[in-house]
Amino acid sequence: MVTRDEVLKGRDRDYPLDAELEQNLNQLLDAVNKLRLGYGKPFVITSGYRPGHYNKSARGAKKSAHMTCQAVDIRDEDGEIAKWCLNNLKLLEEAGLYMESPLYTHEPPGKRWVHLQTRPTKNRVFIP
Ligand SMILES: [Zn+2]
Repeated sequence: MVTRDEVLKGRDRDYPLDAELEQNLNQLLDAVNKLRLGYGKPFVITSGYRPGHYNKSARGAKKSAHMTCQAVDIRDEDGEIAKWCLNNLKLLEEAGLYMESPLYTHEPPGKRWVHLQTRPTKNRVFIP
């Protein structure tokens, strides 16, 4: 199970969640855990809630879904999770998740992750 603490990483101490963020977080946890159940192996969350300066230092998009508790990044060194997601788009749809194209979620040398968000985008797999 992906937990609240894995997404918040203690950042809610300085940036407490209001009612809307709470709702977003609960929706995100439900969705990600639904998908995780289908995947059947643990997800390691490398980044979740990114309020204020945290989003800047992560070089996140200006209106990143990470700022509103609507996105997580999952460690995916070998690209296995990304591949599985692309082969199981129906499960993403059922969970209510949208995925950033894996072409955009890697950094040299070989650091890869899967970005999933509940905030809807035009396509299930989107280009940032
Ligand atoms: Zn992300």
